[in-house]
Amino acid sequence: MTAKTTAAGVPYDVQGEMSDSERRDAAMRGFVREFGAVAAAHLESCVRCGMCAEACHFYISTGEPAYTPINKLQPFEQAYHRHAGPFAPIYRLLGIVPSVTIETLEEWERLIFDACTLCGRCTLACPMGIDIADLIKKARHGMFKAGLVPDRLQLMDRTARAWGSPATPADDFADIIRDTGEQFGVTMNIDLEKADYLLTVAPAELTDHTKALADAAKVFNKAGLSWTYHTEGFEASNIGYLNGDIDLQETMTRKIIDTAVRIGAHTLVLPECGHAYGAARWEAGRWYGDKLPVRIIHMTEFLQEVVASRKIKLNRVGQSASFHDPCQLVRRGGVMQAPRDVLKALGFEIKELENHGALSWCCGGGGGVVSNSRADPIRYKAFELKQREVDAAGADRFVTACGQCRITLTLGAKHFKWDRKVENLLELVADNLAD
Ligand code: SF4
Ligand code: SF4
Repeated sequence: MTAKTTAAGVPYDVQGEMSDSERRDAAMRGFVREFGAVAAAHLESCVRCGMCAEACHFYISTGEPAYTPINKLQPFEQAYHRHAGPFAPIYRLLGIVPSVTIETLEEWERLIFDACTLCGRCTLACPMGIDIADLIKKARHGMFKAGLVPDRLQLMDRTARAWGSPATPADDFADIIRDTGEQFGVTMNIDLEKADYLLTVAPAELTDHTKALADAAKVFNKAGLSWTYHTEGFEASNIGYLNGDIDLQETMTRKIIDTAVRIGAHTLVLPECGHAYGAARWEAGRWYGDKLPVRIIHMTEFLQEVVASRKIKLNRVGQSASFHDPCQLVRRGGVMQAPRDVLKALGFEIKELENHGALSWCCGGGGGVVSNSRADPIRYKAFELKQREVDAAGADRFVTACGQCRITLTLGAKHFKWDRKVENLLELVADNLAD
């Protein structure tokens, strides 16, 4: 892994031993693999209206034209027209669409990894229905094949391949669960051979935020459900999904789903992690077909279910709260009402942010951006959009339902010395269970 700088002074990282032409060809093969019928239809439809630009937090907060969503797609689109579009042979013959150069790809790394959280706000704005965020995610696959991924993300990828999680070896998982149970005085279930619910985790919960593991167990125990954590399938965050490493994405997806099936679980519960929801709930169909072998829900949906069915009762906090909508859960996943129902059950008056629900501004750290320190300056610029809206809403508490959003927003608050605590919905529920 090596950090380099382009002739224009743009930093990029490079992995593996390939010549420039091999690297470029590997990217092109990766792109072509992703040019299915839907991607092709989208790449043919853009009318260059520019509406997506006004939707992107990185463009809005910096004013930098390079950060417009459509610019982030430029080399991918160029590769499509030269190698896969209906007029590709003519374009190549007449030289109308030139080859994508290695220099372009090196400069592009920063645009699609540092300056895109795959948040989908641009997708929502596009009048032609082009799923720009999904196309950028597809483009990451070619970049992964070419060894042009930020080193921080690539390191997580290698660790996940070796350990089964970017945070900890699978061999340590059961010990972490038992230690956490002892620390917080909660009964933990680990590696049960039969259970109705398989509960999965996100990396930060295995290191800095272990209380979330105990909080989830506390709620399941209180609801009287049959559940377990399991060493064979525990990691839901799926770095392969973010990096364009499709083989790893498939492996990690299969681990949790196949484990759920093997123990007879009817429901696989994802942790408070937005991208875990995108990877497992919406992309698992790539390998399992439309009918998944197990029901897959986010922790927030689970909380809504146990509150609505009165399996748990909550103490009423009696304050006001603003909710930060995690992009993958709310905008792309459509889980808009569930967190609000749970907040209401906790007795909160909800003070919505100016842009909320499907229109919420991204925290600025999704899509692997918060793990990529090279992106810190623009991440902080994007954070200011959220900070202004939270201050304007003036609620007592500020809550989200994604651990990565929480980390990103907490880092932003620390950077700007902003005196706001960011709380997670699961923790609020676990701390306010009524007898
Ligand atoms: S997905 Fe989000 S971050 Fe990426 S270009 Fe679109 S609006 Fe910007
Ligand atoms: S909003 Fe859609 S059609 Fe308009 S420039 Fe962006 S991608 Fe193209």
